[in-house]
Amino acid sequence: MNLTGKTVFLTGASAGIGAATALAFAAEGARLLLAARRLDKLSKVAEAAQARGAQAVHSIPLDVRDQPAVAAAVAALPAEWAEIDILVNNAGLSRGLDKVHQGSIEDWDEMIDTNVKGLLYVTRAVVPGMVERGSGHIVNLGSTAGELTYPNGAVYCATKAAEKAINDGLRQDLLGTPLRVSSIDPGMVETDFSRVRFRGDEARAAKVYQGLQPLTPEDVADAILWAVSRPAHVNIAHVLMTPVAQANSLLFHRETTGTMGNTR
Ligand code: NAP
Repeated sequence: MNLTGKTVFLTGASAGIGAATALAFAAEGARLLLAARRLDKLSKVAEAAQARGAQAVHSIPLDVRDQPAVAAAVAALPAEWAEIDILVNNAGLSRGLDKVHQGSIEDWDEMIDTNVKGLLYVTRAVVPGMVERGSGHIVNLGSTAGELTYPNGAVYCATKAAEKAINDGLRQDLLGTPLRVSSIDPGMVETDFSRVRFRGDEARAAKVYQGLQPLTPEDVADAILWAVSRPAHVNIAHVLMTPVAQANSLLFHRETTGTMGNTR
């Protein structure tokens, strides 16, 4: 499927996987609707996307946790941006690594509000138009964390298990329409993810990737592009991808220590 001129709505486009995906779609000549909270970062991605070949770029400030703001932003899109062909529900985060009985309620709320409710709010705002037009593809960012829970990560893992259920449920609900629904589920990807999880503790974040070669955001962007560019009759339900040094969300091989285990 040719992506030239397709309108792609990307949440969490200001960094990491979202930014890499914006550039990958740009190189295909897509039209990019970029959303995130940090507009300074978003405008840099928009500039790079334009230079990379995007047909057009439109950036909107958006906190996916704010349902009225999400609905209003989608409703207020200029006519030339209103017909979204591809939605990439990428905005997401983890906070902390804690046992459930010692966890921070604030961290739980932030993860659930962003990764689960935010994904639903954006989906609810965008998909009716796709159904009306009889065309569209929704790509959700899952994780190996949604496949297998790891210690001290129960709530983040639960949000990604919820993503898996919503992804599969949405595909069932859209059966009989030409719309497609895919989940891209990476293991360890080196982005700001761990910096955000550990609230800027660089040393702790760097330790997560020590002694192994993680996926790059470009690797994940590549999988997203592959899923959306299959012929129109093909639906990719899930792509589960890890670095070679990762077997699942619990098991890693680290060259430096020769140990296996989880430091997420
Ligand atoms: P990242 O580099 O920290 O990027 C996260 C993006 O999400 C940023 O653009 C951030 O933008 C946006 N975001 C966070 N909260 C938001 C909110 N309330 N409203 C709107 N945007 C919000 O992390 P990443 O690794 O690229 O993560 C992207 C997705 O991949 C997430 O869903 C994550 O769970 C998933 N994932 C990551 C990994 C990994 O190892 N890195 C593995 C599996 C899955 P602003 O802060 O500017 O709003």
